[in-house]
Amino acid sequence: MGGWREFVQVKRNSKRGESPPPPPPPARPLVWVRQFEYFRRRRADPKEEKEEEVSKRILGWYPDYREMKEEELPRGLDLSFGCSFKTLNINVPIYLEWLLYRFIRLGGKVLKGYEVESLDQRPPLPSPPDLILTCLGLGSSKVEGIQDEGNMFAQRGQVVVVRAPWVEPIPTPLPDSSGSSPSSREIRAVGDGTLICGGTRIKDDWDPNVRPETTREILRRCLQIYPQLLPPEKRSILPHPPSSSTISDQVEHVDVQAVQVGLRPSRKGGVRFELELSPPHQVKVVHNYGYGGFGYQASWGAAEGALELIERSLSSLKGAAEAEDVTPK
Ligand SMILES: Cc1cc2nc3c(=O)[nH]c(=O)nc-3n(C[C@H](O)[C@H](O)[C@H](O)COP(=O)(O)OP(=O)(O)OC[C@H]3O[C@@H](n4cnc5c(N)ncnc54)[C@H](O)[C@@H]3O)c2cc1C
Repeated sequence: MGGWREFVQVKRNSKRGESPPPPPPPARPLVWVRQFEYFRRRRADPKEEKEEEVSKRILGWYPDYREMKEEELPRGLDLSFGCSFKTLNINVPIYLEWLLYRFIRLGGKVLKGYEVESLDQRPPLPSPPDLILTCLGLGSSKVEGIQDEGNMFAQRGQVVVVRAPWVEPIPTPLPDSSGSSPSSREIRAVGDGTLICGGTRIKDDWDPNVRPETTREILRRCLQIYPQLLPPEKRSILPHPPSSSTISDQVEHVDVQAVQVGLRPSRKGGVRFELELSPPHQVKVVHNYGYGGFGYQASWGAAEGALELIERSLSSLKGAAEAEDVTPK
């Protein structure tokens, strides 16, 4: 829960002006939303059932958590469970700009366009590094010295950014029954009048190009549960409940602002988070990558953990250097 507390703190500080100047409204890096999560009736698979129980328990930690009554669940989708709670959604481009601003203000330096090929490579800095922190996502398997070949894999995600300022910032995610579905149904508000639709997840798919048929499928499925994506004048002609064919016809009336593809940096065996000495110069290296589809959620906790490892290993380095200094020559 350390990471969650940090996010809430960042949100509070952003109001008090302790962070970079806020972007002009309505864009905000973080926005409070009421989120709904639904679960489908399951096939009898004990492993999936167990995972679902864990997910439900985690959702219960969020503020204002409430389980929905049977009659409140959307109809016709074979749902077994639904809940709502308050959470923070991230407007990623603005949020990353904020973080960069903070990093630079605290003394951080950025080498733009610098590509690391080997851990042994020395960046153009005034002095050699005391320690290297690796957080290269999918790039980790290509850098010599990281020694993790073959473990990183992409989980391709395509999303559609839709403009629908008439929609309250209420996301309506509906996980598909299969995690490998080419088109899960998810809608998230980011607080500036746009909604992020979709979020496909296809394992081992490294294609960074937009697929128009996926865009259409995402919109069709999102419209099925959330016709409010359509401008009000178009919505009124939809029959209730809307049929699949009328939905398909309406897809072109959705105001699509952008379609984006991202590759989630996943790793066989999970996150790599450890300290090691890298040959040939025995430089200390802290590895912190492989966060797949949860890198933002985990980011503050991951950073705190990495800082702890760094401080511990640097203090032992300092101790060793002091011990060397007092040794009679
Ligand atoms: C559609 C989609 C939806 C998502 N939804 C969520 C969500 O709801 N919640 C969530 O928490 N996460 C989500 N994620 C996942 C999140 O984007 C990742 O987990 C996160 O970006 C991982 O961060 P990272 O810093 O470890 O890796 P990355 O973001 O991949 O960053 C690695 C960086 O290293 C750089 N790099 C790599 N190799 C080199 C090299 N050799 N030299 C120099 N630089 C290099 C890259 O250019 C990149 O900038 C989603 C991802 C997608 C695609």
